[in-house]
Amino acid sequence: MDCTKCQSLIESFLKQSLTPVENEEFIRHVKGCSDCYGELEVYHMVNTVVTQLDSGSEEEDIDYKETLARMLSRADTQKRRRRFARYVFITVVVTLLIIIYFLIRGIVF
Ligand SMILES: [Zn+2]
Repeated sequence: MDCTKCQSLIESFLKQSLTPVENEEFIRHVKGCSDCYGELEVYHMVNTVVTQLDSGSEEEDIDYKETLARMLSRADTQKRRRRFARYVFITVVVTLLIIIYFLIRGIVF
């Protein structure tokens, strides 16, 4: 993913409307690119302030760097969860195949 593409996805990332693959590529790029990270920080800050104004919330001491880091690590956790779910799925399928294999053998022999 290049910077132009990455920066065009910032708003979608903040709205959490990227596809899992886009999300993964976006985070990988942002973590390695200070330009895009800076851009994301600004959008995130503006986004948070606008959301706050909309909701009439008066929380003043928001640590934007902290909330952004949390957002990025949450996305990382989701990636790990998806990988774990795939691992569990494969394990279940393999186990079922083994059970089916033995059932068929049991019936045949
Ligand atoms: Zn970049």
